[in-house]
Amino acid sequence: MDGKMENRQIFVDVILPLPVAATYTYLLPGAMAGRVCEGCRVVVPFGTRRYYTAIVARVHHDRPEGYELKEVMEAPDAQPLLLPVQLRFWAWLSDYYLCALGDVYKAALPSGLKLESETVVVRNADFEAGGPLPKREQQVLDLLSLRPEQRVTDLAKACGRKDVLPVVRSLLERRAVAVKEELRGGYKPKVEMRVRLAEAFRGEEALHRAFDALARAPRQLAVLMKYVELSGVMGGGDVKEVPKKELEEKSGASSAIIKSLAGKGLFELYPAEVGRLKAAGQAVAAVNVLSPAQQDAYDGIRACFRSKDVCLLHGVTASGKTEIYIHLIQEALREGKQVLYLLPEIALTTQAMDRLRRVFGDRLAVYHSKFPDAERVEIWRRQLGDGCCPVVLGARSSVFLPFRRLGLVIVDEEHEPTYKQQDPAPRYHARDAAVMLASMCGAKVLLGSATPSMETYHNAMAGKYGYVSLAERYRDVLLPEVVPVDVGELRRRKQMRGAFSPLLVEKVQEALAAGEQAILFQNRRGFAPMVECRTCGWVPRCRNCDVSLTYHKGSGKMVCHYCGYAEDVPRECPACGGGELLDRGFGTEKVEDEARTLFPGAVVARMDLDTTRSRDSYERILSDFAAGRTHILIGTQMISKGLDFGRVSVVGILDADTMLNWPDFRAYERAFQLMAQVAGRAGRRGKRGLVLLQARSAGHPVIGQVVRNDYRGMYEAQAAERLAFRYPPFFRLVCVCLKHRDALLLEQAAEEMAARLRAVFGARVLGPDKPPVARVQSLHIRKILLKVEKQASLGRVRECLREAARAVQAGGRGRSLMVYFDVDPV
Ligand code: ADP
Ligand code: ZN
Ligand code: ZN
Repeated sequence: MDGKMENRQIFVDVILPLPVAATYTYLLPGAMAGRVCEGCRVVVPFGTRRYYTAIVARVHHDRPEGYELKEVMEAPDAQPLLLPVQLRFWAWLSDYYLCALGDVYKAALPSGLKLESETVVVRNADFEAGGPLPKREQQVLDLLSLRPEQRVTDLAKACGRKDVLPVVRSLLERRAVAVKEELRGGYKPKVEMRVRLAEAFRGEEALHRAFDALARAPRQLAVLMKYVELSGVMGGGDVKEVPKKELEEKSGASSAIIKSLAGKGLFELYPAEVGRLKAAGQAVAAVNVLSPAQQDAYDGIRACFRSKDVCLLHGVTASGKTEIYIHLIQEALREGKQVLYLLPEIALTTQAMDRLRRVFGDRLAVYHSKFPDAERVEIWRRQLGDGCCPVVLGARSSVFLPFRRLGLVIVDEEHEPTYKQQDPAPRYHARDAAVMLASMCGAKVLLGSATPSMETYHNAMAGKYGYVSLAERYRDVLLPEVVPVDVGELRRRKQMRGAFSPLLVEKVQEALAAGEQAILFQNRRGFAPMVECRTCGWVPRCRNCDVSLTYHKGSGKMVCHYCGYAEDVPRECPACGGGELLDRGFGTEKVEDEARTLFPGAVVARMDLDTTRSRDSYERILSDFAAGRTHILIGTQMISKGLDFGRVSVVGILDADTMLNWPDFRAYERAFQLMAQVAGRAGRRGKRGLVLLQARSAGHPVIGQVVRNDYRGMYEAQAAERLAFRYPPFFRLVCVCLKHRDALLLEQAAEEMAARLRAVFGARVLGPDKPPVARVQSLHIRKILLKVEKQASLGRVRECLREAARAVQAGGRGRSLMVYFDVDPV
C-alpha cells in the first residue's frame, strides 16, 4: 500500500536562481498536481529559511534517493512562463558558456517574475488606487509607507504571515510597488495614472447608455465627453491613452470627479510609464522604396535564405541597411512570423525605434534591461499570449523573451563587442546565442555591419553563412574622404593646440561657418587619463585596483574606471610634497573644454558614460544634435554606433594611437572598426564628408586601411596573424579566470590549474598571466588561456575544464577562490 502511494507522488526538478550546477528535486503537494508543468514557476524553500521562485524543468515520479525531500510551497502559474524551446535554449547557454543553469535563469527573467525572500520591494510613490484594495494588499502598502523599502521576508514577518509573496505579486501587477533592482543606475521610471473606459462600456451602444445615465450629472458628463474626444474612442481607429492629469486639465474637473466615475465602474484608472504614450500609436509611414542596389541586396538575402540559415549583410555605412531590414521584417510579418531585431546597446534603440515605429506602429515592442521591470514583465506575458507583438526591438537580453513564431532575427552592428556579456555569468554573446535560438526555432538570421567581426566574415567566406555585399551609399553619396594627420610631427613643432591639430581646427571652423556640424571622437572619458607629480613622477592609483585614477574636472575628483572609487585631487604630492600636479593625456571632458575655447560661437555637447547615466539624457543629447541645437558632438565609442545624422560634414578622430596600442590580439580589428564606423557618421546625405584621423603613427597599416576603407585588406592581414598565432576565427578561446584576495594563494591556485590543464591540452594552454589590470575591487586576477582547434570535441574540453576547476577549488582554499570561464572572450 505504502509503495503504491509512493509511486503516485509527483516530483519536480527545478532551476533555482542560484549559481548551483544542478536542478533540485521537490515534492509537489497533491493539490497542485494538475497545474504544474514544465516552464511553470514554483516557490520553494532552500537553505535556512530562504525561499525562491524556481522554474520547473521536469515533472516526474522518480523519488530521488539520499536526501530528505522538501515540498513546493506555492505554484502561482496556471500556464507555463517559458516555452519548451526556451528551456532548451537555457540548457545550451549553460552548457556552451560553462555556467550554472541558475545564472541563465537569473539573466533571463525580469525581477518581478522571480520574487524571492531577499527581494527588496519599493513603494511606488506615484501610485493611486482606482478603488479600495484587498485588505492584505493594503496592509503591505501601509507597511511600506512606514518604511518605503523592505525585503519580502521582513514584510512577511511584519504581517505575521508566511505567504506574503502572492500579495506582493499582485501589488507589483498594479504597479503599486516595484522591485528594487530596477532602480539601479539612477533610472527611475516615471509612472502616471491613465484613464480608460471599463470593459463593459467599450463600444458605441454601451457608451450611449453611459451618456444617458449621466444626464443628470453634468460635470461628470463633461468629463466623459472630454475623454471621448481625447481618446478618439468613437473614431473607429486606435484608441489613444489618456493621462488622468490631462483629462483633469482639459475638462476642468477635479481628481475627485474622475475617481467617482471610476467608482461607478465607468472608468478604469491604471498606471503606466511616462514615455510609453508617445511610443504607442499607429504606423504612419509607408516603407521607402528600395534603391536598385538595395533591391539587389534584398533579393540576395532572400535567395540566400533558401539554402542557408544565416546571412551576413556587409553594407558600407549609410548604405541603407536599416531600410533593407524594414523590408525583410515586412515580408516576415506577411508570412505571420515574428521578428527579433537586436541592437548592441540600449542607447541605440531610440533612433531605431523611431524609424521602426513609423512603419510598424504598435506592432513593435521594445525591450531592454533598463526598462522598468513592470514593463518588462508585461511584455513577457504579452509575448506568451495571442496578443504577442510580432516585432521586438531590443538589446541583448531580448534573446530571452518567449517567441511563439520566430521567423527572423536581425543582428545589427553584429561586430559590436557589447553583444558579449562580461559580468556576471552567463558570459554569453548575444549574436551567437541568437544564431542558436533561431536554429532551435527554425528561424533565419541576418547579421548586418559595415565592418563585420572577423569571426562572422570568416564564416561567410567559408560558406557557412551566406554573404551579401552592399558597397555603395544610398543616393550615390560618396564615402567620406579620410585624411591622416601626423600629430607626432606637429607636437615636436609645438603646433598642436591641446588635442587639436591646426587642420582640424580649420576644418571644424569651416563646417561651423557653413552651418554644418562636427563629431569629435576620443575613446577615453574623464578629463585626463592620468595625473602626475611634476617633481617625482608620482601617479595616484586606485586603492582597490591596479590602475591609475582618471581625473574628472567636472566633479573635481580622481575616479577609478574599474570600481568607481573616487578621491579628491591632493593639494600636494603625497610622495614628495611637491606642489605641482600635472594632468596627462586627453579625455572627452578635456576635449570638450578645449573645443569650447577654440570654437567660442559653437554649442558643444558631450556623450559618454558620464553624461548618459539616464536614458533621458542620452535621448536629449542625440535629439539636440539631430535638430542642430548643438553643433559639435564629442564622444567615446558611444557615438560610433549606427547613428544617422544629416548635417555632419567633419569628423575628427583625435587619437588613433591608444586604440592601436591596446594590448589585445583584437586591437587592430577593433581600431579599424571603430575608426571606420566613426568616419561613417560623416557626410551621410549629399555632400561628401571629411574625416581627419590624428595619429602619431600615421604610417601604421591599419590607418592606411581606414583611409582606403579597405575592410578586405584589414581582414587578410589580420587573418594571417591570427592563423599563425592560433587565434579566432581559426581557433576557439576559453579564458579561465581566477580571483582571490590573497595574491600568493591565487598564484598557487593558478599554477595548479594551469598544470592540470597542460596535462590534458599541452601547449594549447597559455599562462597563468596577469591581465593588464591585475587587481580589481581588491581581488587579484590571473588568467589562463586555452586555444582549441575548431574541430575539437567541445563536450570533452568542457568536461576537462569543469573537472580541473573542481579539483583546484577543492584544494583546501575553500569558497573564497573564484574560478570561472569566459568562452569566446572578446
Ligand atoms: P546604414 O544603416 O547602412 O548606415 P541607414 O539605413 O541609416 O544606413 O540609411 C542612411 C540614410 O539614408 C538614412 O537617413 C535613411 O533614411 C536613408 N535611406 C536609405 N535608404 C533609403 C531609401 N530606400 N529611401 C529613402 N531613404 C533611404
Ligand atoms: Zn612628487
Ligand atoms: Zn578601482
